[in-house]
Amino acid sequence: RLSGASAVMSLSISPTPCIEPLLAAQAVVKRFGANTVLHGVDLTLASGESTCIIGPSGSGKTTLLRCMALLETPSDGRILMDGVAVAQADLSPAVRAAARKVRPEIGMVFQQFNLWPHMTVLQNIIEAPMRARGVSRDEAIAAAEILLEKVGLAAKRDSYPARLSGGQQQRVAIARAIAPRPDILVCDEPVSSLDVSVQAQVLDLLDELQRSRGLSYLFITHDLGVVRHMSDEVLVMRHGRVVESGATESVFTTPQQQYTRELIAAAPRLP
Ligand code: ADP
Ligand code: MG
Repeated sequence: RLSGASAVMSLSISPTPCIEPLLAAQAVVKRFGANTVLHGVDLTLASGESTCIIGPSGSGKTTLLRCMALLETPSDGRILMDGVAVAQADLSPAVRAAARKVRPEIGMVFQQFNLWPHMTVLQNIIEAPMRARGVSRDEAIAAAEILLEKVGLAAKRDSYPARLSGGQQQRVAIARAIAPRPDILVCDEPVSSLDVSVQAQVLDLLDELQRSRGLSYLFITHDLGVVRHMSDEVLVMRHGRVVESGATESVFTTPQQQYTRELIAAAPRLP
């Protein structure tokens, strides 16, 4: 994701140009009062790829994801997008401005869907493009209708979220998250609260969207089958630290840490 000129320059200097990760955490610490929840976490997300965070409940996965999505400010360390600091404890005007600029590039999907209950499906989807991207109402509606076709819910356009099943709500939430055309989708256990029979539908949708839109995914799941299917890189967290990370296949086939071996051995749904 280098601009044309700098890409050409670095290519002429080196045969293997060092391309910045799309999104990165550097030594991120997060404290809530006296409680330190993240103890210096590093993470990178490459453009068009998927990084998955696994680990037990309370290990800091959601907090890390919220820092990456710029919903929490790190107590120490930084978040970088395309090599530019977009979050750090010392929020200088430059960092604030960078954060404002990149915020629409990051969409978020939650375990409990979090649709706005007082808005129809269509209203949920058009809100962010109009607010964050300055898209006109007519344009936003036209784009939302295409998205609703894509997620198979065109007929539910004027329904309220409470009238939809969990799987339908999550598909609307995904449409809402990608409506502002983000580069990155951050998903916190996107299928954990869905029936197993519906999970595959939602995962297939995420898969298809990644391919057709070149999205990068950062997601949390406790289902190692999902990790193996969806992610290029995996990060294992415990007690607010990354205990192991690397290419998914190598972490699964040759885990380096005892904790990772136990996690894989305990997974109920691996073939
Ligand atoms: P995970 O997603 O891995 O289950 P979380 O990031 O949700 O872990 O939580 C990690 C720790 O941080 C927990 O002990 C939790 O109580 C604490 N925590 C998370 N958010 C807050 C908050 N807003 N205020 C205080 N403590 C928090
Ligand atoms: Mg969590």
